[in-house]
Amino acid sequence: MQADVLEYYDQTVSSPSGSFYIPAVLRVPQLLQVVKRRRVKHCLSRKNILFRDGFSCQYCSSEDDLTIDHVIPASRGGKWEWENLVTACSRCNSRKGNKTLLQANMKLRKIPKVCDIACSA
Ligand SMILES: [Zn+2]
Repeated sequence: MQADVLEYYDQTVSSPSGSFYIPAVLRVPQLLQVVKRRRVKHCLSRKNILFRDGFSCQYCSSEDDLTIDHVIPASRGGKWEWENLVTACSRCNSRKGNKTLLQANMKLRKIPKVCDIACSA
């Protein structure tokens, strides 16, 4: 039953003639959330992380030598996902190295979130 609704929603997006399905999905906010999340995750890329973070280091605001930093290092099981990736300049990235934020005594300027702006671009 649930899977059927998700399929309708997908069809609606790609075909204007199916737009009457949208109100049906909107009445089930939980399901819409699921669909949204999936779509956003699809767009996760280095470029979109930089875009989300305004092309500035999330530790010191520098805009030079930007890299992508794993908040929880990959060597400690940190995953390649929106909530665990931030833009960091190479200086901060190497300072943090394989440490956690706490161990490195570093703070993020903002908590990394799933970004849906980059997705519509
Ligand atoms: Zn920095």
